[in-house]
Amino acid sequence: MMTIRIQRIFNTGINSNFTLIPVCDMKSGTDTKLSYKITRIYTMQIGIGYDVHRLVTGRQLILGGAVIPFEKGLLGHSDADVLVHAVCDALLGSVGLGDIGLHFPDSDPKYKDISSLELLAQTNALVRQKGFTIRNIDTIIFAEAPKIGPYRETMQMNLAHAVELSPGCINIKATTTEGLGVIGKGDGIGAMSVVLVS
Ligand code: MG
Repeated sequence: MMTIRIQRIFNTGINSNFTLIPVCDMKSGTDTKLSYKITRIYTMQIGIGYDVHRLVTGRQLILGGAVIPFEKGLLGHSDADVLVHAVCDALLGSVGLGDIGLHFPDSDPKYKDISSLELLAQTNALVRQKGFTIRNIDTIIFAEAPKIGPYRETMQMNLAHAVELSPGCINIKATTTEGLGVIGKGDGIGAMSVVLVS
């Protein structure tokens, strides 16, 4: 008779891409021998990131690495690129590595005025060190002004370069908050990101 044993999967731990899988034989009329192999499985994990920075005079506005002509810029220890910060947090969250403040604290002078794209490249390296590959990045910018459309492609290319991903796997959206709240009043700009890694 045909004996079929169902494989049981033992996770070797969160964030691990490796799993112990029993190797089963299917033999007619005989007992099967069970052994184990370590095999790579392609788990998918998602992460979410959200950030808001205050708009002030005397600062350059940088979003997604694009320098955008505007009367105000975002305040922060780094270049305050709120879009890139949201992506960094989403990526770190997807692989269980905490948040951007943990890895790049604003109390550290070496991150003063640093390009956030550099932080994103370092975040990408951390994701890869965990054995994961970024599959796609979706984002949304919350801003009453300026218009984001003319800079969307530049942002997309900048992000793609930083995380070594095809630009087609990165999406950038923008919306206003219809004049509501601190963002609607023009006091700040926010961003959100969701990523998938496997
Ligand atoms: Mg930030």
